Amino acid sequence: MATDQESAFTEPIMLPAGVPFRPDLVWRCGDCGYQRQAPDRPERCPACGAGAEKLDGKTSIEWRLLIRHRPAV
Ligand SMILES: [Zn+2]
Repeated sequence: MATDQESAFTEPIMLPAGVPFRPDLVWRCGDCGYQRQAPDRPERCPACGAGAEKLDGKTSIEWRLLIRHRPAV
């Protein structure tokens, strides 16, 4: 059962004037699930050594939406 709470995330994020936009990406390893917050893609997973192609970078808000909408396994 997916409750639709997307509306809570549709409001634009307002940044104070003069503050540069920071992507705030969270990189998640597809092999071991390691997560790391960094603006740039890490060269490899520091936990299991998987290559950079295994690391999926999304903003924390995108991850939250994905987890929210992922069907229960
Ligand atoms: Zn890993």
